[in-house]
Amino acid sequence: MSRAEQIAANLNIVRARLARALQASQRAANSVTLLAVSKTTPPADVTAALAAGQQDFGESYGQELRTKHAAVDEILRANGASARPRWHFIGPLQNNKVKYVVGQVALVHSVASLDLARTIDSKAAAQGSLQECLVQVNVTGEAQKSGVAPADLPALLDGMASLVHLRCRGLMLIPPYQEDAEASRPAFAALRRLQERERAKVRPNVDLIELSMGMSHDLEVAVSEGATIVRVGTAIFGERT
Ligand SMILES: *Cc1c(COP(=O)(O)O)cnc(C)c1O
Repeated sequence: MSRAEQIAANLNIVRARLARALQASQRAANSVTLLAVSKTTPPADVTAALAAGQQDFGESYGQELRTKHAAVDEILRANGASARPRWHFIGPLQNNKVKYVVGQVALVHSVASLDLARTIDSKAAAQGSLQECLVQVNVTGEAQKSGVAPADLPALLDGMASLVHLRCRGLMLIPPYQEDAEASRPAFAALRRLQERERAKVRPNVDLIELSMGMSHDLEVAVSEGATIVRVGTAIFGERT
């Protein structure tokens, strides 16, 4: 099997897992977006997945996003392909890397401070664009993980409500890795409860419809707890080296 055939076969397996998980939760077949996490993979892997019908791609590093975005467009132009990836940024974001991301991606998943939100907003304002984003929440309170503490979420959303070049579309979670996927269920459920609670408050520019949670090994559990975006790398592109 060629590399491209392998990626297409892996995508079919992941799509089948998603379809089964949605059915088991009696959710609509199209109610989850599959985000293919392409960090560290070569541009040809992205174009292979795109040719197999995958639309959304996630990157974790600003520089890699920039160079891969350009390399992928170059391959697609040379092939005369019309489809283009919809990029997402899912990694930790520093203020000085915001320039690589704003206007380049459909969704930034990792806003975790008002300072970062303001930097994104002013960059978007300078471009005359509007940047959609999610707030990353550190539900389990791990010291080394990025994300806003649940107690600080309301104030962050209040602050984001006045940033007119930013649209907050939901919440994102990276739970600590657990061998047993079921062990992450409480964290997924906690993110959904935060969404339900904060959604009940009316804030301009904030509409918490998305829940970005679930990865290769625990996407079924995340879907059963209400994920609307799952971020899948290894199960599509294989182990990262
Ligand atoms: C790398 C990464 C993923 C993908 O993880 P897999 O276990 O390879 O599916 C998902 N989300 C984030 C934020 C990541 O950095």
